[in-house]
Amino acid sequence: MKVIILGGGLAGISLACFLQDAPEITAIDILEKESEPGGLCRSFLHNGIAVDIGPHIFFSKDKGTLNFMLDMLGENKHELRRSNRILHKGRFVQYPFENDLSKLSEGDRAKCVNGFLQNPYRDYPANNMLQFFLKIFGEGITNLYLRPYNEKIWKFDPAFMDTQMVERIPRPADEDILRSAAGETIDGYTHQLYFSYPKAGGTAAFVKAFASKLNEKVKIHASCEVNSVLKLNNGWRVAAANAEFEGDLLASCIPVNILTEIYKGIDERAAEAGRSLRHNNIIIAMATVSMNRVGNDFAFMVADPDVIFHRINKVDFLGENYHKDGTVTYMMEYTYRDGDKTAALSDEELQERFIDGLIKIGFAYNANEVLSFTLKRFPYAYVIYDLEHKKNMAEIRNYFNGQKIFLNGRFGNFEYWNMDAVVAESRKTAKKIMEVQ
Ligand SMILES: Cc1cc2nc3c(=O)[nH]c(=O)nc-3n(C[C@H](O)[C@H](O)[C@H](O)COP(=O)(O)OP(=O)(O)OC[C@H]3O[C@@H](n4cnc5c(N)ncnc54)[C@H](O)[C@@H]3O)c2cc1C
Repeated sequence: MKVIILGGGLAGISLACFLQDAPEITAIDILEKESEPGGLCRSFLHNGIAVDIGPHIFFSKDKGTLNFMLDMLGENKHELRRSNRILHKGRFVQYPFENDLSKLSEGDRAKCVNGFLQNPYRDYPANNMLQFFLKIFGEGITNLYLRPYNEKIWKFDPAFMDTQMVERIPRPADEDILRSAAGETIDGYTHQLYFSYPKAGGTAAFVKAFASKLNEKVKIHASCEVNSVLKLNNGWRVAAANAEFEGDLLASCIPVNILTEIYKGIDERAAEAGRSLRHNNIIIAMATVSMNRVGNDFAFMVADPDVIFHRINKVDFLGENYHKDGTVTYMMEYTYRDGDKTAALSDEELQERFIDGLIKIGFAYNANEVLSFTLKRFPYAYVIYDLEHKKNMAEIRNYFNGQKIFLNGRFGNFEYWNMDAVVAESRKTAKKIMEVQ
């Protein structure tokens, strides 16, 4: 039994790993568009330091999967304590925002506390993300931080996004908001308070460790962009520019809106649902700066629309292999939509905007402090849970289930899945494949 896997990101590699020992499986071909596997879990070198596509921290509520992932890293890992801040009007507020209200100006603090305690939206149903924020946190916290930050990261208005990203956030107790406003800083989202990270090599070390477990049945075909998928009487024919593959079973870990585009003879409703899915893209900008002007925290959320990036991370925080003496390395993240004005800017123009942002937030005093700069664009970053997402994905899942194609992975399922969810789903997908064949 030959299996074809489209996409060699974490989903494709982990699926192959979970399938390879089944005696019925004789060969697994992983077809990957880029010159190396890893997808969003790749890392690249900036100034000799391995950096990710947005720092990938290892955490999970699912302890079984987390332990499995950490075992994969072997000795190459260490544990760190989250140290994230929100940069709000020149003030550092500990993340999450509602737990550190005393750091705000008196006026902003009063807006947050009053908006929370006298909340006119509390008893309405929340039909979209913005309504959810207003209902749970009130106008102050929503308008000062949640709304601008969410607009910035998604590049999509939260009034047109559904609540599946946020619906598990509990409403803070009145006394917690009062304690936070009075000066007590409370740790929130404690399942990610401690996280692990590879000691060396960035997150790529994790996928490389996974890939090193693949046996001789598995072949990764890099630089192999799939451009057509055809169902045969008894299997599949998949074509890339210079090669064709046939197999008995097909699993797709490439973005499902690409699959709906290249799938021969697709039903028009599924094709239309694929065209309607929304995601954003990301630019990662790296800057080595000569002076440390901000202490030793890790990540800073920046909701200010005048600063191009929504998050800036101090890479040095991740350990000695991510630090060069006498300098500080920052990773800045900027999401964009296809067709955005900023997306059309040249690398030089973008560089100017990023450095301007660094200066605006006080992380550099002038452009001369920036010693080196790298910028990279990646076409898939975050799934947008727009109001039609559930309906569109139900249509697509239903169609590909009927075709007996196994959808796997983050964009393979078009869900906001972190590495732990991807690994856990790959295990389940492997099980399903073994059950049907
Ligand atoms: C900014 C950012 C920060 C993140 N931070 C974290 C974090 O802190 N912790 C965490 O656990 N997770 C994090 N994640 C999520 C994590 O990156 C993903 O869950 C995981 O990498 C998804 O793996 P995947 O294989 O499903 O998808 P991908 O990595 O997207 O892999 C899909 C693969 O398909 C290939 N492909 C696409 N089209 C074709 C084609 N036509 N033919 C062949 N191949 C094709 C792509 O090149 C890619 O290799 C983050 C993600 C982002 C964007």
